[in-house]
Amino acid sequence: YSTPTRFAENRPLSASFFKTAGTHIAGGVNGNLRYFTPFPITFKKAKDAWLVDLDGNPYVDYLLSYGALMLGHGHPVIKEAVQNVWDQLGTSAFGAAHPMEWEMALELHKLYPSMEKMRFTNSGLEATLFALRLGLAFTGKTHVGKFEGHYHGSHDHVLVSVNPDLDQAGNPTAPEAVPETLRLPDYYLKHTVVLPFNDLPACEKILTKMKDQIGIVILEPFQSGYIAADQEFITGLRDITKQLDILLVFDEVKTGCRITLGGAQQFYHVQPDLTALGKVVGGGFPIGVVGGRGDILEFSSPQHAGKHEDIVFHSGTFNGNPISMAAGLATIRYLSQSNRFEDMVHRTQMLRKGIETLAQDYGVPFKTIGEGTIFNVVATNRKMTNYRDVASLQKETRMALDYLLMDHGVYSKPLNRFSLSDAHGKREIEITLDGFERSFSKLKS
Ligand code: PLP
Repeated sequence: YSTPTRFAENRPLSASFFKTAGTHIAGGVNGNLRYFTPFPITFKKAKDAWLVDLDGNPYVDYLLSYGALMLGHGHPVIKEAVQNVWDQLGTSAFGAAHPMEWEMALELHKLYPSMEKMRFTNSGLEATLFALRLGLAFTGKTHVGKFEGHYHGSHDHVLVSVNPDLDQAGNPTAPEAVPETLRLPDYYLKHTVVLPFNDLPACEKILTKMKDQIGIVILEPFQSGYIAADQEFITGLRDITKQLDILLVFDEVKTGCRITLGGAQQFYHVQPDLTALGKVVGGGFPIGVVGGRGDILEFSSPQHAGKHEDIVFHSGTFNGNPISMAAGLATIRYLSQSNRFEDMVHRTQMLRKGIETLAQDYGVPFKTIGEGTIFNVVATNRKMTNYRDVASLQKETRMALDYLLMDHGVYSKPLNRFSLSDAHGKREIEITLDGFERSFSKLKS
């Protein structure tokens, strides 16, 4: 059945483009996670739920720009919103205030009441970076707590996790921090404490011991968007951090508007001190948002204190740019129409159920896990609770499925999770299930 060799044979134009790209783009990709072997697919067209690659192969897209495209590719309401900005303001407006920033803040506050005040950035990376900077300044402490295997964008404080070789990852209750990038400055390794996800007693022990150093804890409430925090864990973590004067940040860059419209915090009924958003709320254009308690956000206000060294600095040429605001507003308003979001969740459940039934029928070892409009297909029957469960999975089985799926017109990028969009209708789900059925039948043979 399909293998990387067969994959390459079917995509000669992607193969040669990848080679060409590598002459001036490091590794041929603008982001390490975009690479997979033997080469990533290059696309030339996208519309609704569909992608077409350079070789003319069509795919139902489940990567969806890493989950950002909640309305699919080229949705007319986004086109109209962006066209209006173009007609009235040009592109990035003025690098100054405009009313859409306020409209966006209001809509987000309605969905995320914990975000009393906020600031806009251009990416999720910038949002988590600024959240941590704010939190450390607010508490006057020096260390950040983060969870093993949780992703918060590519900046130094959070490029710390445990060794993927679990024999060297340290005791599960006391993870051993290692850098995830070459020669990370020592400062970040020393000032980032790695915590075990879904293990409340272990977290309580570490946080209590280091309560005078750790000012802020950041987590993905659903690790990688699909591994849920247990309710008792996340409620307990909220209580403990409050007791210890440690701020809690929910990184909802992936889960925002995807688990529920109000994100994981609405799902769990837990209010963090700060929230980072991105992806969906930019409607397909670059965005990040940091929001939370007004007293914390106000530390970045130019009126906060007389001296510049008493203010947490934050800036960015394209922050709050009208195109991202317009596309984001159009997306949020569209999703807020009655039953839109619920219908998407329903279709996600249909797809997941279909995949699981087929897996049973064909006797292949896959199940789906996730919530709302995100899920992943994993080759295990065990409950998945943390990074160590992911690291100990047999990747070969899922990789074999991924190459087959791509040859049958289903794309999520190998080993990646699946996100749905409003454009994934019954027809796309049927085509996807057909792709899974053909792939499972070949895996079985
Ligand atoms: N935080 C989480 C949970 C993410 O999933 C991502 C991106 O995938 C980021 C932060 C970084 O966002 P961006 O890629 O927009 O910088």
